[in-house]
Amino acid sequence: MERLRTVNSKALYEETKEYVTDGVGSYFHRAKYQDYPICMIRGKGSKLYDGDGNEYIDYVAGFGPMLLGYCPEEVDRAVTEQLKFGTHFSAPTRNLGALGKRLTEIIPSAEQVVFQNSGTEAVMYALRLARAYTGRYKIIKFEGQYHGWSDEEKITITANSVEELGDREHPNKIIHSKGQRLSSADDLIVLPWNDLEILEKTLQEQGDEIAAVITEPIMCDSGPILPLPYFLEGLRELTTQYGALLIFDEVITGFRTALGGAQQYYGVTPDLSTFAKAVSSGYPISVVAGKKEILGCGIHAAGTFNANPLCVAAALATMDALSKPGVYEHLDHLGKLLCDGFRVLAEKYNLKIYTRHIGGIFILYFGFDHDVHDFREWLEVADVAFYERFVQEMEAYGVRLTDERGREYLSVAHTEEDISRTLKVADFVLGKLT
Ligand code: PMP
Repeated sequence: MERLRTVNSKALYEETKEYVTDGVGSYFHRAKYQDYPICMIRGKGSKLYDGDGNEYIDYVAGFGPMLLGYCPEEVDRAVTEQLKFGTHFSAPTRNLGALGKRLTEIIPSAEQVVFQNSGTEAVMYALRLARAYTGRYKIIKFEGQYHGWSDEEKITITANSVEELGDREHPNKIIHSKGQRLSSADDLIVLPWNDLEILEKTLQEQGDEIAAVITEPIMCDSGPILPLPYFLEGLRELTTQYGALLIFDEVITGFRTALGGAQQYYGVTPDLSTFAKAVSSGYPISVVAGKKEILGCGIHAAGTFNANPLCVAAALATMDALSKPGVYEHLDHLGKLLCDGFRVLAEKYNLKIYTRHIGGIFILYFGFDHDVHDFREWLEVADVAFYERFVQEMEAYGVRLTDERGREYLSVAHTEEDISRTLKVADFVLGKLT
């Protein structure tokens, strides 16, 4: 196999960084291990093409949105049609109610929806709603979970060691960025995930101050880590008992684990949930869904670009495409092929490899081969250095994986041929690295 040459990406990056801070649009686009990020020019189906004309089988999916693959025809058609009428009015449009109706049919907990532009904003809105509705101010969030980058969201999203996380029953609140106010975390309580005992104790002590518990139903942003049996049901029962709202952050799991998200997959209905990414195949729109009584409790969604007509058209077309028969069966089939393939490679190279798949999410990590239950355990067993080298080498031979977290995204456009090529490259790369 030949290493790809990426000299044009390097040149593009060198020029861009003169004018754009960090040389990237989002810090997550930066090259984590290489000297420069690969600049992408075009995508089609499961493939991306870079500035040097190299082809990549892509499992990054624009960090999740591209569940239908790149340039899905139905979405392109709907957006092109809307372009003829105008791109932005800041007024209600014909399709606004149609999209709202469609989402309430698809998302189990949705009686109504509110639109925002990004996952970060949707979570900010859900937290404000929870506080307005309950008249309480504290929010429980879990270690290692990412809900966005606002001051209050970017707390204990990661850690370098278990020591940094502090005492398990009263974890540290880690502030990650320069410039983030120290008071950002004043109204947050951070707890370890998958531990109903600690949660119950906290609710017993401070329940009458707690507006909401927010969680990803599958811990996707670190790990990923699956919920223990009855954990989500336990969250539902305890929050109801103590009068706090349960918020599922389904920015990643939404429309990926199942059409109705992880709440449908696990059969647990939160009071509020947030969606973004896969709702619209790459157009910036996000959703807060929940009970009418909560959404109508008197706070209002501002935002110049909220429910922009192009995004609404893209989201409607995406929902139609994902509703077609066979979509989730196809994703499941491909996920199983990848899991089985990596288990064979684990034996061949005598490596501990962890793989799981749920809908359009494929989990891959090194250093352990059993389910881990929280971020602390993950920090202790995960072989981060090996995963990083693996991702770097896979990219050099034309397979693009997420750079640190072991969460890979499948799309409807991936094929069995993509999977077998991916496994061949992985076989070659693991041979080099072991
Ligand atoms: N919540 C979760 C679970 C996420 O994974 C992300 C983004 N990775 C966000 C919220 C924030 O979404 P956005 O990047 O669209 O602001």
